Amino acid sequence: MGAPIQTLGELRAQSDRLRPVKQEIRDNLVRKLQAGDRLFPGIIGYEETVVPQLINAILSRHNFILLGLRGQAKSRILRGLIDLLDEQIPVVPGCEIHDNPLAPLCSACRARVAKQGDSLTIGWLPREARFVEKLATPDVTIADIVGDIDPIKAAQAGLNLSDELTMHYGLLPRANRGIFAINELPDLAGKIQVGLFNILQEGDVQIKGYPIRLKLDVMLVFTANPEDYTARGKIITPLKDRIGSEIRTHYPTTRVHAMVITNQEAWTERPDGLKV
Ligand SMILES: [Zn+2]
Repeated sequence: MGAPIQTLGELRAQSDRLRPVKQEIRDNLVRKLQAGDRLFPGIIGYEETVVPQLINAILSRHNFILLGLRGQAKSRILRGLIDLLDEQIPVVPGCEIHDNPLAPLCSACRARVAKQGDSLTIGWLPREARFVEKLATPDVTIADIVGDIDPIKAAQAGLNLSDELTMHYGLLPRANRGIFAINELPDLAGKIQVGLFNILQEGDVQIKGYPIRLKLDVMLVFTANPEDYTARGKIITPLKDRIGSEIRTHYPTTRVHAMVITNQEAWTERPDGLKV
């Protein structure tokens, strides 16, 4: 890497590339495949079953869901996707939705870019900060996931409530230009799954009856335990149809794999020398 780029002008001079996150992940996967790098380190026994399906899903730029029982490394696989993001990406500093300086979404950033032009100082966001994870529980609200309207903010700034500047962003907008992982998707209330679907489909969402437009760029990944489908909840059909790949995980198929996993997960190197 050369000297780090510090202004919008320098960034523009180097690239005008606007690459959606799924394309970025795909490009990095292709590079790793060509280099023969090990994918998903720490995931054992999935080389011939789960990993090829993950590769297909990523190459197809799909949102995907992992279906499997407890302890089948579902969350670990999703966290492993972080390795497929660029090390860092340029952002408008301070923007809660990590706007791209080359094409900001929120009106605050658009105003900043219009005012400062090429002299705008840009920031760099590391890949670890681009993975947002949420365990779905029945009490999760639209405000948690998508956001809420802040009437006080609107009143103070003299804004209409449908202006996105009045919004208090939830987890999904904060995952813009990154990966949003929802564990145990069927536990998420149907209403919120509809909200997710609307964002996936239209980039639109209604909050308390006010339409807010958010053209987010997010890779959505989910996990679910098939046992819970009937017992606790379900995945609404329109959302299910937008999840491009369903990948089933499994317990180790050989004793060797099981032993390697047990070894990896066991805490045997105890610094105090005690055996308990
Ligand atoms: Zn912004």
